[in-house]
Amino acid sequence: MATGMALVLCMSTLRLKRPEAKYILWPRIDQKSCFKSMITAGFTPVIIENRLEGDELCTDLEALSNKIEELGAQNILCVMSTTSCFAPRVPDKLEEIATLCKTKDIPHIVNNAYGLQSSKCTHLLQQAARVGRLDAFVQSTDKNFMVPVGGSIIAGFDKEFVELIGKTYPGRASATPSMDLLITLLSLGSSGYKKLLADRKEMFEYLQHNLSVCAANAEERLLNTRGNPISMGITLSLENDSDGKLATEIGSMLFTRFVSGTRVVAPGKENTIGGYTFQNFGAHCNSYPTAYLTAAAAVGMTKADVDTFISRLTKVLAKVKGVKSETCGAVNDADPPIKDSETTSSRLQGDGHE
Ligand SMILES: *Cc1c(COP(=O)(O)O)cnc(C)c1O
Repeated sequence: MATGMALVLCMSTLRLKRPEAKYILWPRIDQKSCFKSMITAGFTPVIIENRLEGDELCTDLEALSNKIEELGAQNILCVMSTTSCFAPRVPDKLEEIATLCKTKDIPHIVNNAYGLQSSKCTHLLQQAARVGRLDAFVQSTDKNFMVPVGGSIIAGFDKEFVELIGKTYPGRASATPSMDLLITLLSLGSSGYKKLLADRKEMFEYLQHNLSVCAANAEERLLNTRGNPISMGITLSLENDSDGKLATEIGSMLFTRFVSGTRVVAPGKENTIGGYTFQNFGAHCNSYPTAYLTAAAAVGMTKADVDTFISRLTKVLAKVKGVKSETCGAVNDADPPIKDSETTSSRLQGDGHE
């Protein structure tokens, strides 16, 4: 099963240990699968809104701690934190959450959906387990190993607990995701995978540099979200666009130019998921100071992908903002012919196949 369903299994297993607990404390991350997983597992999500620190949206530890006091630790099934997320949100403060969970004797599950490809995220997991409590963490196979959607890895530092989760699976399962992963790992080899990770890190910096140049030329700026090792964003401060229509239009324009991995987040959207209504779903908070566009450097992304993306974004911004595209960036401005196999869309981090 994919990540969201694997999280359901983790929570169902925790229920065996804490039959009375019904709340899950969840620092807000606007991704539907992980929110739905809590509802599918039969628990009541308690949303902890993020704190804005500079451009970054971070864990509000004080709010988390207060909520624990308010609800009573024994009534809380677990805290579900997140490492990998779209900018401007940054990974949760894992060490502090793990420490709090240890002190209060509350289980801690981490959604590490696409974090396995980032040494920063895996380091956070390692540290959290070292200083505090971390019961299990879950990652997607397609997002980290470039296999088709359908699998995930449930991991933890306590072998018995991980085995217990495995045992809750009702019935037989498809071998396809394991087979896909095995074939991929054998063909890459350990060195091949490590090279992919190193290349990704380099691509992140390449994307960041080019995106900031492109943004500056369009009189926008790169959001300063240094805590996020995979995803980044640029502002879209457009005139007369308080309803975000024009910003959203930029997203559509990119999409029709085969760039589907970017997300445009503009104010004003309300979304209901599993009976819960979110203000500005997608923004990870009720109101972010500006509209913005995000892009991510995920494993498998190439320099050509970045160049194609920047070239198309430059043109779109020029068109919308009336800036001459020649002034934007030192990138190859000629659109290469579009082939399905090499569109940027397939390589940029998608929205999690919700
Ligand atoms: C991809 C993703 C998930 C899980 O999605 P699945 O389709 O269930 O694999 C959960 N949370 C985040 C942040 C994700 O990016």
